[in-house]
Amino acid sequence: MPEQVPLDFLGDLRRTHSCGQLRASDAGSRSLVMGWVHRRRDLGGVIFIHLRDRDGVTQVVFHSDEKFAAVHEKAEMLRSEYVIAVEGRVVLRDKETINPDIPTGEVEIVADKIWILNESKTPPFPMEENVDVSEDARLKYRYVDLRRPRMQRNIMLRSKLSFAIREELYRQGFLEIETPFLTKSTPEGARDFLVPSRTSPGEFYALPQSPQIFKQLLMISGFEKYFQIVRCFRDEDLRADRQPEFTQIDLEMSFPQQETIFSTIEPLLERVCAVAGFSGVKAPFPRLTYAQAMRSYGIDKPDLRLPPFYCVEDLFPVDENFATPGLPIAAIVIPNVGPIARRERDEIKAFGVERGLRVFDDVKRLERDFPEVMAKVRERASAGENDLLILAGWVGEGKGPIPEYTVLQAAGQLRLHCGQKFNDRHKLLDPTDFRFLWVLDFPMFEWDEEDKRWVAAHHPFTSVHDEDIDKLTADPARCRAKSYDIVLNGTELGSGSIRIHRRDVQSAVFSSLGLSMEEAQTKFGFLLEALEHGAPPHGGIALGLDRLVMILAGEKSLRDVIPFPKTAKGTDLMCEAPSEVPDKSLRDLHIRLATKK
Ligand code: ASP
Repeated sequence: MPEQVPLDFLGDLRRTHSCGQLRASDAGSRSLVMGWVHRRRDLGGVIFIHLRDRDGVTQVVFHSDEKFAAVHEKAEMLRSEYVIAVEGRVVLRDKETINPDIPTGEVEIVADKIWILNESKTPPFPMEENVDVSEDARLKYRYVDLRRPRMQRNIMLRSKLSFAIREELYRQGFLEIETPFLTKSTPEGARDFLVPSRTSPGEFYALPQSPQIFKQLLMISGFEKYFQIVRCFRDEDLRADRQPEFTQIDLEMSFPQQETIFSTIEPLLERVCAVAGFSGVKAPFPRLTYAQAMRSYGIDKPDLRLPPFYCVEDLFPVDENFATPGLPIAAIVIPNVGPIARRERDEIKAFGVERGLRVFDDVKRLERDFPEVMAKVRERASAGENDLLILAGWVGEGKGPIPEYTVLQAAGQLRLHCGQKFNDRHKLLDPTDFRFLWVLDFPMFEWDEEDKRWVAAHHPFTSVHDEDIDKLTADPARCRAKSYDIVLNGTELGSGSIRIHRRDVQSAVFSSLGLSMEEAQTKFGFLLEALEHGAPPHGGIALGLDRLVMILAGEKSLRDVIPFPKTAKGTDLMCEAPSEVPDKSLRDLHIRLATKK
């Protein structure tokens, strides 16, 4: 390796082609390309490199005959990931050296000029796809990781989808309007990230958990259709599929029915899927109420690729030794599983029992004991001989504010578990089979066991169902909201609601949530006041962009579709954030640390 590589300046060099552009029809013309040395092969006299840019790869040849000697000498210095410009003549490759795997594979450039624009250290990991690299290394050298083909594809797909989203929403008459990041708490059920104020000692901004209140204010301001592709910040204990900052496609409309929101989002998702190459997604999407979703799937985000379960408690004789009367018995069916091993049956049973269920896995025995009942069960659940059929019920006392839901939820988990467990055999969970679904009429409140109080299931600005207004305080558990989720293959992609647009109702909901008048005034006084200044009926929704891109890119981790993500612990391994700050910065912010590292 030469001591020093002489580097060149870009000067007034201009690319004529990208590295993915040249075709057989370009043979004979001259080309100047720039990019990174992807691979280099030195076959004695001749050096071949694959030059890469975001558009693709082109083969460049450096001959060693006298005419090319100076260029060849420089090419000998090239190493992986050097940044270069080369110019030369485009020639057809010999038949036997054509590379059918790349679009430029029929040609190569015979270089007669080269500029080395920068060197590179040996990359921390190979650029090739399908090489397993530790995630820590990928995140530390993210700029290198992002150069790898898979990440290039994902980030470019993300950009294409964002563009399609903008186009579609502009087409539908939406305005893109920004809302502040330095603001006051907008509750979405997580902790706020706080930013200390230098100019107002002892006071803090909160980073928005969502633009919820601002988008409502924009409706009060008369903009009628707002959207934003916007970063949101939530300080939560991170699970594998969460990021402390994430991006939402956020929108809000004035004078909408729920229907108006659905007919806005459905063409948007159709278009986004088509842009990602899945043109089979067609609206209208099916709909289920929350209650129906619970009764058929035991979850509020059903994966429709698996069949529902069926409640069959009405078919069995009432016998509390068999199952608690009044609580559901779910018949779970996974099609085409065929016979299963004893050990598999035991595992399924253990999974259900851990969740409090009584699992009747021995269907043969049930069929002996209750032949007529079981014939009806099979009929209701459309369970054929080759399908896996499991019954799950409950013995003993019911649990939770709505015991029925506790049983259904556990049965729902068992259904998913079995679906995943036998996916190899029945192949129902095809990742490119996109099954969208609306779930409507969520409960207005959820019981917070820790704080022993009701909390907003969506957020406190959600409208109550017209028929349930009197349940606000009388029966909060059964009070339904005008809220809806858009679900895709078992993932909640977005949530929204029709909002409260009257001050009296908003105040009543705050008080159901245990907020005193005074607290409501301090936290949301400006909103309450705004509701008294001509607030139109309004509603909206927000969709998780990261999650949508992840699913359409066929990835399993959000980190693979976010350019600079955080680790599961919320840290940035590349720039080492969060980090300590100098004492002076703390003093400026009027902060003294209680504990020092
Ligand atoms: N702000 C809500 C959220 O972030 C979405 C909405 O209600 O529009 O989930």
